[in-house]
Amino acid sequence: MSEKPKLSQVLTHGRYATSFDAESAEEVYDPRKEALVRSMLTEIGEDPEREGLRRTPLRVAKAMDFLTSGYSLSAEEILKGAIFKEDVKEMVVVRDIEFYSMCEHHMLPFFGHAHVGYLPNGKVVGLSKVARVVDVFARRLQVQERLTNQVADALMEHLGAHGVAVVMEASHTCMMMRGVQKQRSTTVSSAMRGAFDEDHRTRAEFMSFIKP
Ligand code: ZN
Repeated sequence: MSEKPKLSQVLTHGRYATSFDAESAEEVYDPRKEALVRSMLTEIGEDPEREGLRRTPLRVAKAMDFLTSGYSLSAEEILKGAIFKEDVKEMVVVRDIEFYSMCEHHMLPFFGHAHVGYLPNGKVVGLSKVARVVDVFARRLQVQERLTNQVADALMEHLGAHGVAVVMEASHTCMMMRGVQKQRSTTVSSAMRGAFDEDHRTRAEFMSFIKP
């Protein structure tokens, strides 16, 4: 049984198709990146001119710019103006900060959660900024170990804290979808600075906070 489409559906579809063909398909965002994506599509045996792929080079170029936007940002920019004097001595922990990055070996996503702790030394930082610092370094081509260390070092440098701890747990799609094809394994990395490195009790306290 075939159903005739309703008139409203035809009209909506018609309007969409018109704007798609006449305007959006003409849109150019970054000609060089788009040409590279088009070549890649051809190389893998695809037809970049088929309808479903016509705007793919444009979308990929935009997505890549977003996923690597961390290169044009710095932790310093994000943290300046967000650090406040406060007489707090107790550990501050922000857990389960979602992050998405791309491995530099395969340019495939790895993603998971970051847990960040610090021991204030007369200054505290807006909590959302901690998450943004994670993004600044995650939105680059990375290896998880370096990412973890960069977040710790940036916070240590700009917060002037007694110590900083960062633990990251991630799933790597380059391991899940290719290579050893292990879907359930996660990778945990940590970077301990100052008191978290020197004092096992401080480290243990942090670890107890981030336990699931
Ligand atoms: Zn990889």
